[in-house]
Amino acid sequence: MKSLFIIAVWMISILFPKLVYAQADSVKVSEYFNKIKSNETSLNQFFMYMPKGGDIHNHLTGSVYAETYFKLAVEDKLWIDMHSGKLYPTRNAAVKAEVINPLQLSASMNNLSNLRRKLLELWSMRNPQAGGSVLKTSGDFFNAFDLFLAAAGSHLVELLHELKYRAACENVQYLEIMAMSPRIGPVEIDRFFGNGTYDKDNRILGKAILSNDGTLSDVLTILYKKWHASGEMRKFTKQYIHYMDSIDVNSNVADMPNAPVCYYQTYAVRNADPLKVFAQLYISFEACADASNTRFVGVNIISPEDGEQSIRFYRGHMAMFGFLKKMTPKDVKTSIHAGELTIGLVKPEELGFHIHEAVYTAMADRIGHGVDIAFEKESVSLINELKRRNIPVEINLTSNETVLGLREDSHPFPIYYRAGVPLIISTDDAGVLRTNLSEQYTLLILRYGLNYYDVKKLVRNSIVYSFAPKKAKKELLRKLNTKFRQFESKWVDNIATMREWGG
Ligand SMILES: [Zn+2]
Repeated sequence: MKSLFIIAVWMISILFPKLVYAQADSVKVSEYFNKIKSNETSLNQFFMYMPKGGDIHNHLTGSVYAETYFKLAVEDKLWIDMHSGKLYPTRNAAVKAEVINPLQLSASMNNLSNLRRKLLELWSMRNPQAGGSVLKTSGDFFNAFDLFLAAAGSHLVELLHELKYRAACENVQYLEIMAMSPRIGPVEIDRFFGNGTYDKDNRILGKAILSNDGTLSDVLTILYKKWHASGEMRKFTKQYIHYMDSIDVNSNVADMPNAPVCYYQTYAVRNADPLKVFAQLYISFEACADASNTRFVGVNIISPEDGEQSIRFYRGHMAMFGFLKKMTPKDVKTSIHAGELTIGLVKPEELGFHIHEAVYTAMADRIGHGVDIAFEKESVSLINELKRRNIPVEINLTSNETVLGLREDSHPFPIYYRAGVPLIISTDDAGVLRTNLSEQYTLLILRYGLNYYDVKKLVRNSIVYSFAPKKAKKELLRKLNTKFRQFESKWVDNIATMREWGG
């Protein structure tokens, strides 16, 4: 029997020599990995080389570094409130906001270098250990976006280019970006449907959500039918799709062999009037389902989950997702920021149902963060449901540590991992947080000590559970396998080189 096995192995090695070599490389890399698991520098070095698949939870404006915003603000000669660090497009806008002595940025300023340092620390987590960044709380973190916003709006192409370029340099082959929401609100709704419509419909919708008297579904149906029959809404959707296509094409990384494949999630901003949220979600679903759409692959909902309106209308928002999932003829994928909360940030009862609602009411295909899972009512059966329905959780370690103070065993990664819920490692807002995807893997290993094969599985998850179209996904997975084979072969050479150093 044993001799038969040896003959079989010998035959395989003759017929498929590449496969045998690849497996041998994989084993050597795994052995090396076990030795460096607690060494931060060696892990950083290893992960810079390793293919990382996709970064599928990242926000465009939060992923761009503050240095870029400063450069754009100086080029555009924007005005700044030096006290708060907030940019304004014009002097008039600053004066209107009651800024005392606004300052116009320009390349010829004497103290440009000091100014730059100060603003980078107001706009991102730069150098906090040396008393640099003043972003100390969840509120500071989200406010930072508002400070540099004036430098972002007209430069989406440049911002997107930065993300694509960084992905190419960092061996990230796929990006799924939350780039921009449909800008629909009171002005557009009143223009399309008559003055006063927004306020009236918003009042009716808000009441239906808060009264919980069973009328919400009827109100959503009436709005849906009205919007669906509107040529203006259809035109708005087409323009939104067209605009996304144009910034995607114009931001492509030219002449770069590792340029990432890029798709986008459209989204609603949750801390807003319920009608505005529903209109943004409606356009988002319509855009994803439209025959002319090629870049949007999913819908999300963003902004602080503890915001006043976010909390008040949370159940309503989840009902909107569930409703639109049902009404939209095409299967539109959704990833929902849910449970990005912790004890002390909100009233304890708020922690009990957000992930549950995202899973059961909104029928989310992926969960973003999910860090308050331990505080959910019936959390064990909820975790089982995530596993049963194969709903992955997107893990953002630096983000959760910075915004919510969760790290090591105050983060639920081990609970999800032990249960076998599919997990994905992502960055969230790499620019404001001043991190990258490689560092997220380093943190993961330092904190939770996974082995190399576990890491490979997580990387693969980032493509398997992405919303990339079927054909693109198949190709991405094929390339990922090739990339891992090449990486492992290269890393075996690197191990030999490092051994010569005598380490
Ligand atoms: Zn996020």
